[in-house]
Order: sequence, then structure tokens, then C-alpha cells
Amino acid sequence: MFLDLKMFLPDFFMEKVEDIHLERLKALGFKAIILDLDNTLVGWRSKNMSESVKRWIKNAQKLEFKLCIVSNCLLRGRVRFFSDMLGIPFVFKAIKPRRKAFCDAVKILNVTNDKVVVVGDQVFTDVFGGNRMGFLTILVPPLDKREFYATILQRTAEKILLSGFRKQGLLQKLSETSECRLSKRPKLDLQSD
Ligand SMILES: [Mg+2]
Repeated sequence: MFLDLKMFLPDFFMEKVEDIHLERLKALGFKAIILDLDNTLVGWRSKNMSESVKRWIKNAQKLEFKLCIVSNCLLRGRVRFFSDMLGIPFVFKAIKPRRKAFCDAVKILNVTNDKVVVVGDQVFTDVFGGNRMGFLTILVPPLDKREFYATILQRTAEKILLSGFRKQGLLQKLSETSECRLSKRPKLDLQSD
């Protein structure tokens, strides 16, 4: 079956998490943000989160966004460390792009899928998985070049896809005037699990 390549297209592409315009997401009616951990909020295997990322998360909390970390990381202790530090819930061993962990997060957050934003550094897990759920998807570049070996292989395919999207002018930045491109997502996926 032909797979629509737009399922891999993020709604927005930002140079870093801290550049994500929270007020605009709020104005667009979003209520919750699902955050990838490794290479999105912190470098791979790193325990150091930058002050600017911490500030952005605090700002999101101040704006009353509900937050949840959803990570493919298999180490509960590692994900829990950041969850405790930031005071937000988490789902680990997520096996993104499968829907199960995202569904668990939506239950924790107690919101509908169309009010959720997912932020991550990988097209085939965070963006594809988020698009399948009907979330708004925001892609950021990985913080660290070091990665899980399977991820390194995926990066080549990812680069090809992203350069195609870029050439077609489909990679948009979220700004204070951005609108959602809801049309890109199949409506059937909005409440699926
Ligand atoms: Mg990641």
C-alpha cells in the first residue's frame, strides 16, 4: 500500500526546543505537550539539561500546559530522573511510533488528541507517531550526534525525506502568526488508539 509521505511531515520545524512559541500554541487552543527526552531535551545519555530548556519548560507550566515525557528509553531510572526534576509525568519504553504509549500519555494528560502537541527529534518515531495520533508535531534537530545505533541508520532516510520537504517549502517555522495545517492529517486518526 502506498504510504503517504506527509505522515512523516512535521507541522513545524524549529532549530531548538526553546524557540517553540508557547504563546502561539496556547492561542491555537493546544493544552498539552508531549516531550521526547533523548536528543530533544537533553543529549543522548546526558543528565545535564540546559538552563534554557528548563526555563522553556517552566514557562510552559506557567502557561498551564499539561506536560508529559514519552521516551523510547528502556531505562526507567533515567526517564524518572528528569520527570522528578521537572515535576512532570512520564511514559518510558514507549516504542514510538506505536500508539500505545501516546495513548497512555493522553490518558495521563486527560485531553483530547487534537489538543496535544508532540515535540521530538526523530521523524520516524516522534513525528510519524504523533501524526498517526492526530497531534500537532514539532521536529527539532538532535542535540547530540551520538545516538543509538538503529537511530543512526534511520537518520539517512530522515535526511532524504527532510531535504525533499525543504525543497518543496513544506518545513515551516512556528511563529506568532502561524496557523495549524490540520488538513495534512487524516481526520480518521484523531481519536484512534
Ligand atoms: Mg529523541
